[in-house]
Amino acid sequence: MNAETRRTVRERADDRCEYCRLRQDHAPLWRHQIEHIIPRKHRGTDDPGNLAWTCVRCNLSKSSNLSGIDVETAQTVELFNPRKQTWWEHFDYVGAEIIGLTPTGRATVAVLNMNEPRRLQLRQELLDIGELD
Ligand SMILES: [Zn+2]
Repeated sequence: MNAETRRTVRERADDRCEYCRLRQDHAPLWRHQIEHIIPRKHRGTDDPGNLAWTCVRCNLSKSSNLSGIDVETAQTVELFNPRKQTWWEHFDYVGAEIIGLTPTGRATVAVLNMNEPRRLQLRQELLDIGELD
């Protein structure tokens, strides 16, 4: 991955995780990363159209997953694709919690463990100071 591609992906995302929306400047200890939406093991490429900017926790949780199970319908659905889908159509905040509005949103929240207690606590602290946007 060359520096130009990394810069393109980071700037396109406004230096914010494209899954949980955590801004890099709110996660100073862990640098955000390039994520392959379709992982290399599934023949995903380094084309910017297959890349997303993610926080470490989302990237580690997504790993090579392409799908998850919607808790409401018990159906297997593809995970959120930030290159093809719009965050606010699939997710919203209820307080500091990220909720899925669609089967894809709910499956992605679950697989990426978006409301793990420490992550929720950080978003609550950001919400409390008016920095959760
Ligand atoms: Zn994230």
